[in-house]
Amino acid sequence: MGLLSGKTALITGASKGIGRAIAIRYAQEGANVAFTYLSSVEKGQALEDELAAFGVKARGYRSDASDFKAAEELVNAVVADFGALDILINNAGITRDNLLMRMTEEAWDEVIGVNLKSCFNTVKAATRTMMKAKAGSIINITSVVGIKGNAGQANYSASKSGIIGFTKSVALELGSRNIRCNAVAPGFIETEMTAVLDEKTVQGWRDAIPMKRGGQPEEVANACVFLGSDMSSYISGQVLQVDGAMLT
Ligand code: NAP
Repeated sequence: MGLLSGKTALITGASKGIGRAIAIRYAQEGANVAFTYLSSVEKGQALEDELAAFGVKARGYRSDASDFKAAEELVNAVVADFGALDILINNAGITRDNLLMRMTEEAWDEVIGVNLKSCFNTVKAATRTMMKAKAGSIINITSVVGIKGNAGQANYSASKSGIIGFTKSVALELGSRNIRCNAVAPGFIETEMTAVLDEKTVQGWRDAIPMKRGGQPEEVANACVFLGSDMSSYISGQVLQVDGAMLT
């Protein structure tokens, strides 16, 4: 019996990186997994089979996290297909880095739309089902950059700070309905995205972290298992940093 047996989770942006690791860890812990992808169609479809091999129900949906109407349709489809929605993980995210002087309005709007508005979209759509069930766990993936800020990432850090304020507000509003809402703030996590970067630069980042290494997607996924499970039944409104003491 896994920590998430009998629960249904919806994870946005699971075709690669951290979202994919969360989907796999959730399936390993017995959760039925609904997940989304947008441009990585083949990877999304392959993940569906990979998750089903754990003996759980799994289904991928192509859905743009920044689209309000699409989020409503997505949640309705998940509830119709799975019959429940116990855990919602807002993981889909992008970067469009540039110094403020060179940052375009499009780069600002796109990042705020995919990273922050997406959380509003899915939470708004999911709360009806969770309120009916008088239970739910919402996990929003923020970043240490949302706590500290970062030069060259004004749009990204604003979106991630926004997620923290949103998370705490949802926890306050929905606590009386037994719906918990927490944020996970990864530090430097080594994904496909970082694998293509110059090794010297990446080593410099690793050396600056007290634990002297980047994190693995599975280490973020484990925090999400805890926050999605009944092990964290009295934890809500919190930001859990998974950063090897990078920001301490
Ligand atoms: P990643 O490897 O680039 O994966 C991002 C995922 O989001 C992909 O599955 C992508 O799907 C999906 N996505 C992007 N735009 C989308 C949209 N409009 N609608 C639906 N899905 C969309 O990134 P990652 O490193 O795993 O990051 C995952 C989350 O962790 C993000 O929120 C990121 O900000 C946060 N984070 C990451 C780090 C890090 O060091 N990696 C640190 C702190 C926080 P498609 O490819 O199918 O479009």
